[in-house]
This record gives sequence, C-alpha cells and structure tokens, in this order.
Amino acid sequence: MRIGFGWDSHEFKAGVPLRIGGVSLPHDKGLSGHSDGDVLLHALTDALLGAVAAGDIGGYFPPSDPKWKGADSVIFVKEALKQVRRAGYIVANVDSTLILAEPKIGPHSSNIQERVAELLGITPGQVGIKAKTPEGLNLDNAAIAHVAVLLVVTEKEKKSRKPPIKKPRKKK
Ligand code: MG
Repeated sequence: MRIGFGWDSHEFKAGVPLRIGGVSLPHDKGLSGHSDGDVLLHALTDALLGAVAAGDIGGYFPPSDPKWKGADSVIFVKEALKQVRRAGYIVANVDSTLILAEPKIGPHSSNIQERVAELLGITPGQVGIKAKTPEGLNLDNAAIAHVAVLLVVTEKEKKSRKPPIKKPRKKK
C-alpha cells in the first residue's frame, strides 16, 4: 500500500468560471490561477504523484509554460494517474476537505464525488468530499483543498514481485 497527500490554495477572482473537482459551480467568482484554478484537482494530482514518489504538479506542468494557461485540470489528474499505474498501483480510496467561505459545497458534493470517481475509474463510495468554512482564518477570498489517497498494488504487479531466492548456506 502507498499513501499520498496533496494540498493547494487559490484566490477568488471575479469574472472567471468556478471549477471544483472537475465540476462547474454557479458563483459570481472563480479561482484565479494559471490553469482553470481547480484547487481540488490540483491537490488530488499532488496526492497521487506523492503516493508513488513521482514529484509534484509543478514539475509536470510548470506555471511558466504558456501551454497550460487556462488548461482543464483533468489533464493533470490523468497524468498523475498514469504515473500511479506505471508504478503498478490502483486507487483504493480518496478523502478530501475543501475550505472555503462561499459557495456552499453541500448541494454540489455528490456531483463532485461522482466526477472525481469517474476521473479515477473508481466508485463514488471510494471518494470522500467534505467542506468547511475558514472560521477565524480571515481567508474568505481563498479556496483551500486537502486530499489524501490510498493506493494498493495491482494483482499483476504483485505477481511480478517475486520473493527473493534464498541461497543455501555454505557449510564451513
Ligand atoms: Mg493550484
């Protein structure tokens, strides 16, 4: 098994669409960033990469590269998933916490849960989506996401990892 953790934050900005967990949410502000600012998918990408010690999102998609301007963050998750599969693992479950003052995530949480599950090729029951408001943090203009993932080794990989052959001890 492998565990991964990811964290991200983005600032709210008027006039941009709000994307969280690959879902468009109705709101008067969106999250600013080089890509579509999807804070949850960025934290998820880092959690997946971290679980297989494959670097971080910035290493694959540098913000300095104009190619990723306004990019759909689904691309980042797909790349991270590729690294997970390459290492011989599949996702067992994901848990997440969003921290933002507005909009309320509750009415959209099942949509986000289903979309994240779809992206990862798992069931909604394997994806935890939780949300809180930033009480006492004075962070009402930001959205923060924490994501933890658990990976398990695939059957194919398990078989290829044969136990080391024991050499018979030489008699003195
Ligand atoms: Mg980000």
